[in-house]
Amino acid sequence: MVYDDIIVGSGLAALATALGLAPSRKVLVLGGPETGQLEFYGDQKSIPSSYSGVGGLGNFWHGVIPTAIRAPYARECRSEIAELFQYFYPRTSIQEKIDQRWLFVPRRPVRPRREWERLSRERGDNLRFVPLAVDRFDTRGGGQTVLAADETFKSRRLWIAAGVLNSPKILSRSVSPDLRRAFISDHIICYAGQIHQHTPDYSPPQVERAGDGFWLAFEFSSDGDALLTQRPARFDYRTLDRGIEQRAVYGLPTNSAMVRLLKTTSPGLVAEAIFNKFGLFPRSPVLSVYAQLLVRDALDFSREDAALKPIDHNAAQAVSRLSLPWPALLRTGRPDLFLRGIHLHHSIDLDALNAAGLASDESAVRVVDASTISGIGPEHHSFYTMARAYRLAREASS
Ligand SMILES: Cc1cc2nc3c(=O)[nH]c(=O)nc-3n(C[C@H](O)[C@H](O)[C@H](O)COP(=O)(O)OP(=O)(O)OC[C@H]3O[C@@H](n4cnc5c(N)ncnc54)[C@H](O)[C@@H]3O)c2cc1C
Repeated sequence: MVYDDIIVGSGLAALATALGLAPSRKVLVLGGPETGQLEFYGDQKSIPSSYSGVGGLGNFWHGVIPTAIRAPYARECRSEIAELFQYFYPRTSIQEKIDQRWLFVPRRPVRPRREWERLSRERGDNLRFVPLAVDRFDTRGGGQTVLAADETFKSRRLWIAAGVLNSPKILSRSVSPDLRRAFISDHIICYAGQIHQHTPDYSPPQVERAGDGFWLAFEFSSDGDALLTQRPARFDYRTLDRGIEQRAVYGLPTNSAMVRLLKTTSPGLVAEAIFNKFGLFPRSPVLSVYAQLLVRDALDFSREDAALKPIDHNAAQAVSRLSLPWPALLRTGRPDLFLRGIHLHHSIDLDALNAAGLASDESAVRVVDASTISGIGPEHHSFYTMARAYRLAREASS
């Protein structure tokens, strides 16, 4: 059988692609290996960098969705962002938040496994899901031939959403090794310092409750290159740098690590974790300011079989450029400590992709995850990337 579309991957980007395709199309999802494999950043075993298995990193993400939509790749998808948000969170309105500095923190992050089941019910026989890892594809001889394990599948269109680490590997095996970049970009999260609630010209964090979660206001740094959030600093976290020293150990916890985190002996860490998850008790006399910063070429990706290697001087340079809008902020003494943001992107060479004819709207093979996004700006990118995939799929199948 020749499918209309084959989607490689079953994470958030793959899910958004399937949602964008017309329901009448015959779609096959090759969702990655049945037995999943979690990989971590080389230097911090507490922070996952990729999950090869059904749902991808979508099994772990916190589901935070920003609404300022500053990055160019996201601006052209503003209506798709609103549309997708409404699909997942019908009890919360996003319209009045668009173009404003807000983060949506959901009670239930979008989980691909659950959503694939829902979509399979809606699409019936038109959506087939097979948990298999694709080895490579071949575009010769008309249509797309996809090889996975011992099986061969055929389609008119092919959508590659195998994640920032795996999509370039598939392209490298199928088209040319030139498509794979030697570096990957990412966010880091660093601690800027502390500020007192009653500082003149400063407003403490605004929290608004919504049907499916809560909204948390954020600021941009003076040059717009960093996303700043303020979090209550209570108990031991009132001591400058105590928070980042703790967070550097715990990383960005997945939900199961959250339980471990709540058992720690640091009441400041527990208070901050409760705020992060539920938005409770935002007002405290002292607030910690965290900055999410883009680090271009944050990681060395030159060796296929080796762990990602952090390029520390690129992260240090990004931290040293941080410009803060509050002169009264008590600056951190530990600019060397930061967390990996898990917002990997730009692992494919865009010029080489263009030259291979795989970047145009006419191409029957499209890469729809963040491996082809060169600049995500300071905002969380995953929902924007979903909206881009949704838009591309919808345009191609309309
Ligand atoms: C703890 C944590 C918290 C996070 N919080 C946020 C947040 O709040 N907001 C935000 O924007 N982002 C967040 N992220 C980042 C977010 O999770 C990722 O950006 C997003 O999940 C990436 O989705 P993806 O579909 O592009 O790729 P992936 O999730 O990597 O999915 C790749 C898919 O491809 C499949 N695959 C791999 N190789 C093959 C192959 N050879 N053949 C077939 N399939 C293959 C895998 O099985 C998987 O299904 C967080 C990440 C983590 C870990």
